[in-house]
Amino acid sequence: MAYACPKCGGAVSRQHNSGVQQAGGLVGALIFAALASLTCAKCGKLAKTDFSAQDRATMTRNSALMVVGALVLFGVCIGAIVALN
Ligand SMILES: [Zn+2]
Repeated sequence: MAYACPKCGGAVSRQHNSGVQQAGGLVGALIFAALASLTCAKCGKLAKTDFSAQDRATMTRNSALMVVGALVLFGVCIGAIVALN
């Protein structure tokens, strides 16, 4: 999912922190991706308020879906461990 920069129209990416992703595995990566700040290659860090209301609604929905997905994945892992024991 990519967003356009509200200032220059360029591509916006999420800031990555490999340390957090390694510590938390896939679940941590999903949660981190949901919470990561958005950065434009030209304009730098962007606030959520820089984006249109429509983009913000999409971000909020995607973030919620990612967190829910991470929790489901976590639950499946716990379930698998319990089932194997
Ligand atoms: Zn920009």
